[in-house]
Parts: sequence; C-alpha cells; structure tokens
Amino acid sequence: MPASRIDAPTAADTGGDPVSVLWMTTGLGCDGDSIAMTAARNPSLEDLLRGCFPGMPPMIVHNPVLAYENGDEFMRVFFDAAAGKLERFILVLEGSVANEQIAGDGHWAAFGLDPATAEPISTCRWIDRLAPHADVVLALGTCAAFGGIPAMRGNPTGAMGLSDYLGAGWTSRRGVPIVNLPGCPVQPDNVTETLLQLGLHLAGAGPMIELDENGRPARLFGRTVQQGCGRAGFAEQGEFARTPGDHRGCLVRLGCKGPVASCNVPIRGWVNGVGGCPNVGGICIGCTMPAFPDKFMPFMAPDRFGLLAARTVRFTYGPVLRRLRQHAIRRG
Ligand code: SF4
Ligand code: SF4
Repeated sequence: MPASRIDAPTAADTGGDPVSVLWMTTGLGCDGDSIAMTAARNPSLEDLLRGCFPGMPPMIVHNPVLAYENGDEFMRVFFDAAAGKLERFILVLEGSVANEQIAGDGHWAAFGLDPATAEPISTCRWIDRLAPHADVVLALGTCAAFGGIPAMRGNPTGAMGLSDYLGAGWTSRRGVPIVNLPGCPVQPDNVTETLLQLGLHLAGAGPMIELDENGRPARLFGRTVQQGCGRAGFAEQGEFARTPGDHRGCLVRLGCKGPVASCNVPIRGWVNGVGGCPNVGGICIGCTMPAFPDKFMPFMAPDRFGLLAARTVRFTYGPVLRRLRQHAIRRG
C-alpha cells in the first residue's frame, strides 16, 4: 500500500473527499523541503494523511521523494489532473522555475515522458498544464517562492520564483493567489500547518490564509528573527558575541541577519521545538527573504545597519540597562 494512503478514512468519517497534493520536486532545487517536512510534529505528516482533524478531509500526497509508486503508476495522477479529471487538488512546486526558452536544444528540468513523443515533459510545461486546474498553488521553499540559490547572480538557467513565472497577479481557479512558503529548507511544521489550513479551506471549514506583501502566510512571517530570538535579551542590553562559539551575546557582529529577516524558526525550533538557528549559535543568513542569497552575502560579514545599531546600543542605553538589572537582581 502506498505510504501516502496509510489508514485513509472514508469521506463519511471526515471533512469530505480527500484533497490531493500534487507535489513537483523538479524545479531547480535539492529536495530539501520534502525531506525536512518528514520531521514535522505539529501537525505531523501522518496526521494530515489520516485526516484526523475535525472537518478536514484526508490528504493524498503525491511526492516523488516519498512515494512507493514509480514510473507510469506515479505519473498517472499528474496526467489526470492536467486533463481536468481531478476534483480538487493543491499544486506544490519545490525548486525554482528555469527559463526553458534559453535551454537550447535540451531542457533544464523535466519529469515524465510525453506519451505521444516519448520526450521528457519540462517542469514549465507541467506548470502550464496543471496550474489552471489547481485550487491552490503553493511555492514551497525559497527557490520556488523567490528563485533562491539557483537564481543567484551568474546562474545560466534564468531561474526564477513561481510568481515571476506565472505573473504577479496570478490567481487559481478559486481566485486564490500563489502561497509562498519560503525557507531553505522550510521549517517542517510550517509546511504541514500550511497544508492543513489549505485543506480546511478547500473543505469549507476554514478561512483562506492571510498573506503578507511577499505572498507568505502573515502569521508565520509577521516578525523578524530577532524579535523571536532566544538571544534578543543580550542585544537589548548591548552584549555581543565575539566568536562563533560564544554562548552569551547577540550574534549580529558575527554576521547574523536576524534584525532584518522575517522568520519564525527561533520561536518554533526545527524539530519538535528544538533548535532554531541563532538560539543554538548559528547566524541567521536570511534564507526566507526574497533577496536571498545575493543581498545577504558574504554571510559571515555583519550587516552595516545591524552593526550600527549594535554599536549604538553598546555605548548608550545597553550598559545602563545592564547595571539596573544587576542591581535589581542583587536586591532580589
Ligand atoms: Fe533546497 Fe533550499 Fe531550494 Fe528548498 S529552498 S529546494 S531546501 S535549496
Ligand atoms: Fe533562515 Fe534565518 Fe530563519 Fe534560520 S533564522 S531559517 S537562517 S531566516
């Protein structure tokens, strides 16, 4: 039995017929988001597949990294969807979209064979065929959302985000704009939570996700890394780490882009609440941001404005706050 259908309940048990998730990993990327998603705990992938949330239909996830099926058996649902035979589905793209117009005689990215010609079908052609039939389109990972690493300066493929390919004002047949879920990779629970919310919405049991100006779920990307960082208290009182191994101090002088990057990883952690880049000593490299990676490089170099802010705090109110707090602690 395919892993994506374990113990799937019937429509009568849940919020209706299953929602299919057609997940293409054949953008220009590394499959890191598919792998990361298997670590989700809240909710878990298994929760989604079983449809164990009230009002939510079970999901059938067709992802080549996770599927038991292969070859024609795996491809069948993609051809059905392209022919308009799939009732409702979420189209997920992982990896950025290559510009096939500059691919010469070959192609940059493809999957499946055209039955008529036995030629590979490019990812762009799949997007052209599937997006008009999809209820929601999810650009998963910074590559799919904004171009990411494959789109960095000097790339020969013309790589771009899905919004650049489909057009900024593109909406699905339900009138839903592209949902961008960036991260490199995406925080695992952010993936499953977003799929859960979209599934509930398609079942008529929940509102559409509110998106920010970059098409990201506003609730997940509404604050900066620093605002949720476990080291933010050090920044406030002007204490800064000097070397990468320092357990104390804000990391901004080591290159951390936390003050200018929007991301909930320091709050949510990576797996089951554990980890979260700066919390565990890693600088934030701004991987959820539209300008990543070019505008955040070199990663280890401090941001000019971050450094200015750090110096200001260090030599102005930071020491005053520290002294007042130490005084309060001693009195306590
Ligand atoms: Fe891989 Fe990062 Fe691109 Fe996802 S966003 S495909 S993890 S490089
Ligand atoms: Fe990316 Fe920074 Fe968030 Fe870590 S904290 S996932 S580097 S944006």
